[in-house]
Amino acid sequence: MMEKEKPVWTIVKILEWTKQYFADKGVETPRLDAEVLLCDVLKCQRINLYVNFDKPLEDDELKKYRDYVAKRANNEPLAYILGHKAFMHSEFKVTKDTLVPRPETELLVEQVAKLNKDKNPGKILDLGCGSGAIIVSLLQMLPTARGMAIDINAGAVKTAMENAESLGVAHRCCGLVSDLFSQIPVDIKFDVIVSNPPYIPTQEIAGGLAADVLKEPRGALDGGPKGLNFYERILQGINGFLTPEGMVAFEVGIGQGEQVAALCKAQNLIITAVCNDYANINRMVFATKEGSKYENEILALK
Ligand code: GLN
Repeated sequence: MMEKEKPVWTIVKILEWTKQYFADKGVETPRLDAEVLLCDVLKCQRINLYVNFDKPLEDDELKKYRDYVAKRANNEPLAYILGHKAFMHSEFKVTKDTLVPRPETELLVEQVAKLNKDKNPGKILDLGCGSGAIIVSLLQMLPTARGMAIDINAGAVKTAMENAESLGVAHRCCGLVSDLFSQIPVDIKFDVIVSNPPYIPTQEIAGGLAADVLKEPRGALDGGPKGLNFYERILQGINGFLTPEGMVAFEVGIGQGEQVAALCKAQNLIITAVCNDYANINRMVFATKEGSKYENEILALK
């Protein structure tokens, strides 16, 4: 009997096939994802795919790519398959213990860095640091600052510190496994407290989230019945850990801006600003006490 000839999978052929397969599976950007995964397998830039369209894949490359494609078709986020995600100007390691950093969060980092530009901030605390995207980026942008990266998930703290190390700020960053403030020594005070806590209302997680997002750690997404649990808990403890001149910065979910600002005001952080993201949705809340060194800048954000 004649042996059946194996099909030759060239770059162009496999990209076409995968694009269609991903599209059928509901992947939002099928061609782009197919290319990014293939670049990782072939250790090349996207431009090289186009230059080598007719090049056949080796068996081991094909095997690795098939494994990636199966994962992506099963809604695994691209960043988890690759193990990293670009944020600000750096690549951050991400794992299943960490949320995948979002472009909206880059806005939060930019605003906090801007508010602190001429302030020489001392200590910055990131509550719920995940991959460390926020605190590590801030330490890169604010060379006098020292940071504390806190997460309840030990795997997240480990990843945040690995990112601090690989991005050159580990000597100014301390990782701590803690449920919010609970493990922080009571005599430490911070000039800046920043957080992108879990803020999605519990019911929405069951109902309406994209399949990719459901692969991310539930503990990093679920903010309780109204999505406000973590803001309430953080703000209840805030005055024990914020310097009198300090500022807080939060990322918030849709429709939560004014509610979080009200929670800040209830703790005497009465100067507040609610700012929008690229989609014009309230996404950030900044707050400080009256008369603090941040007052004018925060008022100017409105
Ligand atoms: N931004 C994330 C999302 O919309 C949620 C992050 C969070 O809860 N902090 O999927």
